[in-house]
Amino acid sequence: MTSSSPEAPDYGLPPEYEHLYSGKVRDLYRTPDDKLLFVASDRISAYDWVLPTQIPDKGRILTSLSKWWFKRLEGVVPNHLASGKIPKAVAGRAMVCEQLDMLPVECVVRGYLAGSGLADYQATRRICGNGLPPGLQDGSELPKPLFTPATKAAIGDHDENITYDETIVLIGQEEAQELKRLSIDIYTRALEIVRERGLILADTKFEFGFAKSGKNAGRIVLGDEVLTPDSSRYWDSATWAPGGPQPSFDKQFVRDWLTSPASGWSKDSGDPPPALPDEIVERTRAKYVEAYERLTGETFS
Ligand code: ATP
Ligand code: MG
Repeated sequence: MTSSSPEAPDYGLPPEYEHLYSGKVRDLYRTPDDKLLFVASDRISAYDWVLPTQIPDKGRILTSLSKWWFKRLEGVVPNHLASGKIPKAVAGRAMVCEQLDMLPVECVVRGYLAGSGLADYQATRRICGNGLPPGLQDGSELPKPLFTPATKAAIGDHDENITYDETIVLIGQEEAQELKRLSIDIYTRALEIVRERGLILADTKFEFGFAKSGKNAGRIVLGDEVLTPDSSRYWDSATWAPGGPQPSFDKQFVRDWLTSPASGWSKDSGDPPPALPDEIVERTRAKYVEAYERLTGETFS
């Protein structure tokens, strides 16, 4: 974590909560008893930019979804949730977590072809060192889920895909093996759950770290947010049709609008993106709510 990160919004937290770090979307604080307060803002990013407009309720939706998933994955992997009081100022949008020593690998699992996996496949017919059969299309299901790790980029940069061997060099053989095993196990379990709800989990990203204390001390634990639309590509099974880009479950309206003439913005210009129109904000919020409700079967309030 660095101190040269974006400034955190003023949530009105009690002064004993020390700001540690802000990423594009999350704000991290140290709690008075030395745990981590993990706060999801309503910020939204696209094309590696944080947009100037926020999506109301996004932070609460993603936090609820992460907690829902951590519970469902309890038998598969230990997680960083800890007990502790959530200050009123961030109620609903925050989790108290154990501070982990994060492993510097973005653990991506892909069951379907999209994004940088598709680009790598089209260029080399491999993804992160995994050879694949010819003839796969944008959106195709892969013969089996692949562990396709990436290094974590600084803010404003793309993550870079790496091979399994490069992962071993970065973090060690045993750790790499464990991350791969856990990532595939979690993805496989999540895909089963998601399919029952008429959804496809095309790919997703996990982050793990070593617990320093608590009941999991010394073990590799699942951290960060999990299986939210921000870290995962969810598609609707009913409309899935390989051969082109699939509508994504979250930022589709935002991406479509930003790249349309209406926005007056070009993603290659190097200029910051413009504010979103109200209609795009409302439709995007509705998409996050829909993801939450379809996954959990509960009404979002
Ligand atoms: P990006 O905007 O590209 O996602 P980021 O990942 O740095 O950048 P956030 O996701 O907003 O930004 O911030 C969450 C940060 O918290 C990440 O750096 C992640 O590695 C870290 N993190 C997640 N869980 C824990 C934990 N239990 N202990 C310590 N750090 C954690
Ligand atoms: Mg992140």
